[in-house]
Amino acid sequence: MENCLFCKIISGEIPSQKVYENEYVYAFRDINPQAPVHVLVIPKKHVSSLDDTAGSTDTELAECLRAIRVIAAHENLAGGYRVVSNCGDDACQSVHHLHFHILGGRKMAEQMA
Ligand code: C5P
Repeated sequence: MENCLFCKIISGEIPSQKVYENEYVYAFRDINPQAPVHVLVIPKKHVSSLDDTAGSTDTELAECLRAIRVIAAHENLAGGYRVVSNCGDDACQSVHHLHFHILGGRKMAEQMA
């Protein structure tokens, strides 16, 4: 999608530190990490948020979740990790291309918000 930051990252127009890629999914290190491991997992097909997935296929969505497990193993997160997807203004979503934050490498706060 034109003018979407994450679509430009997928196309390579904007550089990123790639950690994983397949036919459906791209994953890269967050530019402003909130934990020792902070990876963003995004579908290659533009979808603005979890609220915009009615037109997505099960495969497109499931591949994001499957990628999380593979990335967590590769990043040595056997002790655990947190997955977050901010959806809409109340959740402070700042980039309107669906993404899952993988946060790990330290003990997370018990309180989530
Ligand atoms: O959930 P939210 O929309 O706020 O997350 C967007 C994330 O995208 C932020 O964590 C931000 O640091 C990250 N980002 C990035 N590379 C960019 C722009 C934003 O990793 N070029």
